[in-house]
Amino acid sequence: MLELQHVTKIYQTGGQSLAALEDINLAFRANEFVSVLGQSGSGKTTLLNIIGGLDQYTSGDLLINGQSTKTFKDRDWDAYRNHTIGFVFQSYNLISHQTALSNVEMALTLSGVAKSERRKRAMEALEHVGLAKQAHKRPNQMSGGQMQRIAIARALVNNPDILLADEPTGALDSETSVQIMELLKEIAKDRLVIMVTHNPDLAARYSTRIIKVLDGHIISDSDPYDPARLQAAGAKAAFKKTKMRFWTALNLSFNNLLTKKGRTFLTAFAGSIGIIGIALILSLSNGVQDYIDQVQEDTLVAYPLSLKKNDSNSLTSLFSARMEAFEDGSDHSQSENIGVNDTLKSLLTSETSDNDLEAFKVYLENHQKDFDTLTKDIHYSYDLSPQIYAADTSNGVKAVNPSDLSQELDTDNVMVKTMADNMEIWSEISSDKEMLKSQYQLLAGHLPQKADEVILMVDENHNVNDLVLYSLGLEDRDELSRLSQETKDDEQTYTYDDLLGRSFKLVIQSDIFQKENGLWVDKSSDTAYMTDLINKGKDITIVGIVKPQEGTSNNASVGGIGYTQALTKHISKAVNASQIAKEQTDDKGTNVFTGQPFSADVAAFSSQNLTDEQRQALAGMTAEELAAYVSQYNQNADASYEDNLKTIGIIDLNAPSSIDFYAASFENKENLKDLIDDYNRQMKKADKEAQIISYTDDIALVMSSVTTMINMITYVLIGFVAISLVVSSIMIAIITYISVLERTKEIGILRAIGASKKDVRRIFTAETAIEGLISGLMGILITLLLNIPINKVIENITDVAHISVLPIWAGAVLIAISIFLTVTAGIIPSRFAAKKDPVEALHAE
Ligand code: ADP
Ligand code: MG
Repeated sequence: MLELQHVTKIYQTGGQSLAALEDINLAFRANEFVSVLGQSGSGKTTLLNIIGGLDQYTSGDLLINGQSTKTFKDRDWDAYRNHTIGFVFQSYNLISHQTALSNVEMALTLSGVAKSERRKRAMEALEHVGLAKQAHKRPNQMSGGQMQRIAIARALVNNPDILLADEPTGALDSETSVQIMELLKEIAKDRLVIMVTHNPDLAARYSTRIIKVLDGHIISDSDPYDPARLQAAGAKAAFKKTKMRFWTALNLSFNNLLTKKGRTFLTAFAGSIGIIGIALILSLSNGVQDYIDQVQEDTLVAYPLSLKKNDSNSLTSLFSARMEAFEDGSDHSQSENIGVNDTLKSLLTSETSDNDLEAFKVYLENHQKDFDTLTKDIHYSYDLSPQIYAADTSNGVKAVNPSDLSQELDTDNVMVKTMADNMEIWSEISSDKEMLKSQYQLLAGHLPQKADEVILMVDENHNVNDLVLYSLGLEDRDELSRLSQETKDDEQTYTYDDLLGRSFKLVIQSDIFQKENGLWVDKSSDTAYMTDLINKGKDITIVGIVKPQEGTSNNASVGGIGYTQALTKHISKAVNASQIAKEQTDDKGTNVFTGQPFSADVAAFSSQNLTDEQRQALAGMTAEELAAYVSQYNQNADASYEDNLKTIGIIDLNAPSSIDFYAASFENKENLKDLIDDYNRQMKKADKEAQIISYTDDIALVMSSVTTMINMITYVLIGFVAISLVVSSIMIAIITYISVLERTKEIGILRAIGASKKDVRRIFTAETAIEGLISGLMGILITLLLNIPINKVIENITDVAHISVLPIWAGAVLIAISIFLTVTAGIIPSRFAAKKDPVEALHAE
């Protein structure tokens, strides 16, 4: 069944070649106990290794079942060793960090036997050698004889055809040697056993055939075998290939790492430092980004996405105008001249065409559903401010909105006056209940519903600006003139009841014009007329007090009055129903204030351009009355039609001055912008450039530049820290290399029982993968722990909690990176391990 034909083995050492075997011709029976005797160095081990496929012959041929092995590849030899051969060595060669059972199982593991079957057969083999009870001991807890019996069990577990034993009793006392020999003899009953020994007595007592070797030659054979008869059999020498599962490799490496916990831990810790650095940076930048997102989310309610009829005042157009000016400014640094940047000119001339919100409103209403799903509320504003007066006219007419407070301020300070003039105290609130609730928290009373109901808005500390109070006339304005530095108020407070129920009077703007002598006259400075008008006006009452809802970043509010859309509609309707509005809108070409066409060349008063009615009225006037009449006439003489609409207070509900979108979420705000961009694209396609809407999201603009900066810092820091990852990878490579050197013997053992080069590589890849996993996990764990004090410190300094939070994805990715880096670092040492010569590896200590 096994035959050596002219086998020669030549070793090359230091340029010298030495023939360890020379032209060996030998054949073995399938069932005999052969002893090989000979002096040390005569070539016995070499012969055994060649028979076992652990070493390859230089020339000649080894026939297995009549098949030549000349064309055998590494994998074929691996499979041959695993299935056909069982090796037993003088020095036992057990894997020290594995139990007896695992050692025996290993050969089965390599041949891919299932776990339960493996366990069963390994236990049977251990029972066979009488060591079932020691199955879970490690080799270093056993005697030499026990270890050798485990080695025999391992050799037998795959039920090989041939058992090769190289001086199996060489290290044992004579009593134990006899036990081992008995065992081998029994084994030889149904297979071929070839044993190398120094001991001729044992050979003579137990074996059936004795071969003597000297200097690489066979000098005697007690029972030669003629293989000619076997040649006919010609069975094909094909073996099932061995393959170690990655899981087995992992298990093997894991046990190995467990035997050196200290080193494993330190290596993992060193490897984790880079991971910790990156994880901390990601934690912080992620937390800050989340915080920014939160702030943006908070601003959704207070700062809607706003489309304005006239967008020229926005931040961006200012920015872009400035930028253009800078870019256009040519470089004069090389000359002796001073150049000019046309900032002002470019601001003045920058294209600020109005947004056509009337057309957009039509589009919006046609796509109402799309917009509604993204918004909590869409608010239309108009160029209309309700004309509100103090209800009490006993001390004269006091305009509350627009306020005439500035005229009563006894100061030359322009700043103060400008502030008083420009404060927008009255504003329209949302007509959507849910929206109102998300914006404001009700402190007293109820939210307004009807046209004559308004709310007082205070700030989050329940304060209201005194300017508002004076403006509204809730504080006596006469006090202001008496006010001096010394008599500053003590802290003053109001109860809710002081403010609830206060009411004002609404005057319809068009009502302040009265037709006299065929001319519409502004009566706003006629106290008697105005007093009468105010007394007849609608009562507007404060029905509730609100403050901004928490977390809405609504710090803009300094207090004020909120009125309903119902009021806007009421005013608009009343104005449109007025006589003056009818006259003006019925005849769009004629200025109602003069009776002349808008396009008249001579706009100012001229006796030639008068209507008959006016001519008649003039006839009976005194000089004084005439002067007043002319002055009235000239007041609006050069106005345009649009100017007149504004003066009279006529608004078109289809043409808002701004549209505010309150997005439901930050994401929706982005989608909303897409919708508007869609519209713009459609308009562009349809060649309606004039209808393209321009808008700016100032908040997003500021935030995105902050985000860009944070990202930049993050990348730079990660770049620095990545260097430590490279360093730790090199360290892992070195440690893996040391591990390879330490485990050389194990590599030899595994190869002897049939492990392939790939299997060996796998073991070290598994080891590095485990190291990488441990260091990754450790890095993430340490980061999570570090984040606790870091968050405490940041919260103490900035009052913002939970800034440093490691995102789960980052943790996962970092662990993966850690594994990838260590495995990569282990590639070269693993290859080195796989390339080791099995015979040399076995001799390593
Ligand atoms: P034995 O087992 O009979 O003591 P070996 O088969 O180990 O003898 O060795 C036979 C001869 O081959 C010896 O001279 C030994 O020095 C030489 N030899 C064995 N292995 C190697 C090797 N790997 N490289 C070089 N020479 C070797
Ligand atoms: Mg030897």
